Amino acid sequence: MSDSSTYRIPYIGLKNGIHTYEFEADESFFSKFEQSLLVKAKMNFEIQLEKLNTQMNLEIDLVGLVETMCDRCGGDLTSQIDGDFKVVIKFGDESSDLTDDLIVLGPSEHFVELDHLFFEFAHLCLPARNVHEEEADCNQKALEALREFGLKEKDIEIDPRWAALKNLK
Ligand SMILES: [Zn+2]
Repeated sequence: MSDSSTYRIPYIGLKNGIHTYEFEADESFFSKFEQSLLVKAKMNFEIQLEKLNTQMNLEIDLVGLVETMCDRCGGDLTSQIDGDFKVVIKFGDESSDLTDDLIVLGPSEHFVELDHLFFEFAHLCLPARNVHEEEADCNQKALEALREFGLKEKDIEIDPRWAALKNLK
């Protein structure tokens, strides 16, 4: 696993039982991921880790405010998000991420790496449609410009002079 993680829990020597952790993440964390949809974000992750002999159970509780881009007007869109996620971590012969909710850690591991989980979970909590609820809340200037641009583009397509110019090439 990568050494560049920002969020990790050392578990070697951790006593069996329940341990709690809290982490905060903002856009500087999410911008490390190329696929991030978040422009601005402020998130809080509360983690409850239950350590047992052969596995650990993680419960991750996230709340946050995120700013994404509205699909209609391209403007900023702020949403409140929250979610609960459970991850089972088993101690095995070698490490593998089987799924988002089952991870196997080999004997050479020392940390539960959380970066990828935080990224995945934050994106799973995003609203399905990134648009301002009411069109009236959208950036009206941007909508107008888009509409105008849409019209012009259509004009170009149907203007025979443009078609003739294209044939000159
Ligand atoms: Zn909008």
